[in-house]
Amino acid sequence: MESPALLTLTNYVDGRLLPPQGKRYLDVHEPATGAVFARCPESDRADIDAAVGAAQRAFPAWSALHPEERAGHLHRIANAVQQRFDEFVAAESRDTGKPLSLARALDIPRAMMNLRFFAAAATQFASESHTNADGLNYTLRQPLGVAGCISPWNLPLYLFTWKIAPALAAGNTVVAKPSEITPVSAWLFAQACIEAGLPPGVLNILHGSGAGAGQALIEHDGIAAISFTGSTRTGAAIAAATAPRFKKVSLEMGGKNPTLIFADWEASDANWHTVIRSAFANQGQICLCGSRILIERTCYEKFKNAFVEKVRALRVGDPQDAASDLGAVVSRAHFDKVMGHIALAREEGGSVLCGGEPVAPGGRCAQGWFIAPTVIEGLAADCRTNQEEIFGPVVTLIPFDREADALAIANSTRYGLAASVWTSNLSRAHRVAARLESGIVWINCWLKRDLRTPFGGVKSSGVGREGGAEALRFFTEPKNVCIQLD
Ligand code: NAD
Repeated sequence: MESPALLTLTNYVDGRLLPPQGKRYLDVHEPATGAVFARCPESDRADIDAAVGAAQRAFPAWSALHPEERAGHLHRIANAVQQRFDEFVAAESRDTGKPLSLARALDIPRAMMNLRFFAAAATQFASESHTNADGLNYTLRQPLGVAGCISPWNLPLYLFTWKIAPALAAGNTVVAKPSEITPVSAWLFAQACIEAGLPPGVLNILHGSGAGAGQALIEHDGIAAISFTGSTRTGAAIAAATAPRFKKVSLEMGGKNPTLIFADWEASDANWHTVIRSAFANQGQICLCGSRILIERTCYEKFKNAFVEKVRALRVGDPQDAASDLGAVVSRAHFDKVMGHIALAREEGGSVLCGGEPVAPGGRCAQGWFIAPTVIEGLAADCRTNQEEIFGPVVTLIPFDREADALAIANSTRYGLAASVWTSNLSRAHRVAARLESGIVWINCWLKRDLRTPFGGVKSSGVGREGGAEALRFFTEPKNVCIQLD
């Protein structure tokens, strides 16, 4: 029987909150308790058609607005989110299992920042002009039409707004599909858009599964571009579906990021705190988390002992408890996947130095999906554990002898999203940064983000870049205009 308290989410189409036309729904679970607390629409092609139609009708007026006017709308939406800040924080934590403190410090502030950042960026966006004997050329940067934005579950509103803000700021209208695993904050966001007076059809939010709503969205002829963040597997499927339709595509995908610790690194408390966070923040479910920690052999034992001691001290528990450093992983399926990877690491000969087991916090969280932060050593760099993305609270420790060895191991996976390098040697820092096959390199820090910088990965981690002008370029089409002057 359906619980009376069950939250029923709606789509946001043409300015209205609507049920899915097929009246089908998916269960939404609270990871900390394992219980179903909401249901979200399982939208189908008819819903996608309606949303794309609304976005197409809204496009001429929205794209004709001056950037300052579009910026005003984005600021008003950010204000509407700000007004319901605590509600957004609670929803994000409940839906994902992440500590409330993380949603409050990171997810929701960053979502508002995304809106405000691209509101400002659009007013600063400029294009080139070229003059020669033939005349004057200038480049128009025009919006594409209707953009499709597809986002994952790990940072739900953060990554959702990271896509729709530049798409809207550049003058596109949008049909967006958040993850079906964590849909609640996008549903609240639709309400914020209505409260902020966003014109109908400018942004449409459709809920549903990847195979259903997602597939229908990427195949729709009315969608000019797809901006996607999620797994490499889904990215490949999107690339395959969109290539023959000649859609513009930006793909932000998986990672297996290396953290390089050289013996001369400064082992201060602040740096230790960052290294631990880079491994286990959000239960390791951040695409930028370092999951392979490469340590110069001369300091391997010392680093290992201190690292394991600090990881053991991390508290796993109720996301609502301010004392919890880690909450639950996002779903039962993901819990099984991560535990399967830990079993595989053991089969491959790895030694589990700490963690490796589920955690049962008891109380209201007795049935939740909690995993102890896990540190594994003794595995070859080319084994599956060190090559496949686990995307959970699991890291491996790998010793290296020379800088060249560290680089070879770091670059040995199919991925290339982010890396962090810890050293006091300035020359080495620059040399290693240049040689890492990675879209992002942090030196003696991690997850410091200037939103103007290019964001994305190489190899199987990404195609294209997000952030700042890169995002505005993606969401616009350049057109050259040539004028004869003489
Ligand atoms: P996922 O690929 O399973 O799903 C991501 C989104 O794609 C969801 O909204 C899903 O419904 C949709 N989708 C699935 N199949 C689809 C299809 N055939 N057509 C259209 N849409 C489809 O990924 P996930 O499990 O939600 O997220 C975790 C993954 O995301 C990890 O691999 C992680 O590394 C990656 N990630 C990457 C970045 C980055 O910036 N590179 C950021 C966050 C997460």
